[in-house]
Amino acid sequence: MDALTPPANAGAGGDPEGMLFRAEVRHWCERELPARVRAKVQANLFLEKEDYLAFLHALVPKGWVAGHWPREHGGRGWTPLQRFIFEEESAACGAPWLIPFGISYVGPVIHTFGSRWQKERFLPPILASAEWWAQGYSEPGAGSDLAALTTRAVREGDEYVVTGQKIWTSYAQWADWMFCLVRTSDEGRRQAGISFLLIDMKTPGITVRPIRTMDGCHHVNEVFLDEVRVPACNLVGEEGSGWGYAKFLLSNERVIAAETGRSMRQLAHLRSLVAADPQRADRDDFQRRLAELELRLHALRAFCLQTAQAMDPQAAPGAEASIMKIRGSELQQAIAETTMEWLGAHGTVYDPALVHLDRPASATGPELGPGLVRDYLHGRAATIYGGANEIQRNVIAKMELGL
Ligand SMILES: Cc1cc2nc3c(=O)[nH]c(=O)nc-3n(C[C@H](O)[C@H](O)[C@H](O)COP(=O)(O)OP(=O)(O)OC[C@H]3O[C@@H](n4cnc5c(N)ncnc54)[C@H](O)[C@@H]3O)c2cc1C
Repeated sequence: MDALTPPANAGAGGDPEGMLFRAEVRHWCERELPARVRAKVQANLFLEKEDYLAFLHALVPKGWVAGHWPREHGGRGWTPLQRFIFEEESAACGAPWLIPFGISYVGPVIHTFGSRWQKERFLPPILASAEWWAQGYSEPGAGSDLAALTTRAVREGDEYVVTGQKIWTSYAQWADWMFCLVRTSDEGRRQAGISFLLIDMKTPGITVRPIRTMDGCHHVNEVFLDEVRVPACNLVGEEGSGWGYAKFLLSNERVIAAETGRSMRQLAHLRSLVAADPQRADRDDFQRRLAELELRLHALRAFCLQTAQAMDPQAAPGAEASIMKIRGSELQQAIAETTMEWLGAHGTVYDPALVHLDRPASATGPELGPGLVRDYLHGRAATIYGGANEIQRNVIAKMELGL
């Protein structure tokens, strides 16, 4: 075990099978997780598509790419607790983010609501990590208020003709397909005129333009659709029912948002930085702050484990999912802020070129400095994506307080 890997103290909610499963995941990561990818993750460097694919392709023979899918669709039928343990333990060990767009978002929508043809066409490549998906929900005028979306799909014979713009589309530059919310009607409630389409990114009329985020990296894009012709068989479920599928998908999005494994890794990192400089005058203050962050992490992990154990995989998640999203993203940011303060002046110089290398390097200060700054900068988005935290608080107020 290297210095940046957290100790194997992680629990499984008192569940002996969960403990065994956690040990199995850890063992797998130690032997099979590609070393180059793991080193990049631990140094917080920018990951290229090939890095994510190397991790996913290593998972394929084990059947763990979509372990939480039902067995009849090629998954392992994991319980919510197993899914949580896998995602936490692999992230803590230095695995990349398990890109969710195919595996956790559109895959479950297709196997729950899709046609037979859609299941046969789209699920096997997701399981094999052979196709990359993007999520086309947000638009310039429709983020939190998603029902305001205006990208229009007009039915012409056996096709829909789609025109409009999506924004903040993560990794659309690498995508083969995009699942997209489109407006098929202006009648009645805004939600009732929305449909769910699967769009081949090679179709003429699609333009992807990069947006550079403040870490200087290319994670997100604008996607312009200009009279894009989409076969009608790519409509999921019923026309006008897309809002229901979108909500089903968003509830899956929030369940995986606590990212405790990532926080375990980042906290271990901060701990090792503080331990490496015993002479620093403000070290006691940082030790106290580290202890506070650790307590927050323990509390969040206990909540996630308890929630995962009690969760009915068939039922829509309750307010707990929003609580996990809020607490998880706030904790990530608190760890990154404390790390930046520890770095002090070394954190004020940042060259994005250094996080695009294959190994950590710094022109000034600690070798891992650029990656830590990148993590801090990109981490500002964690309280926005996946449904902004203010919106999550509204969800909790509605569900729990009936406001
Ligand atoms: C890094 C990143 C990656 C993303 N990836 C994707 C992706 O792949 N696909 C995709 O479709 N989208 C993606 N998004 C978009 C994301 O879902 C939206 O940014 C988010 O839903 C917020 O919408 P908005 O940006 O339009 O902000 P707005 O909705 O305009 O919100 C602005 C601010 O006002 C607050 N606010 C808005 N309404 C309310 C309210 N009713 N009550 C209280 N406060 C409110 C918000 O919380 C926020 O603080 C991504 C965003 C980021 C930053």
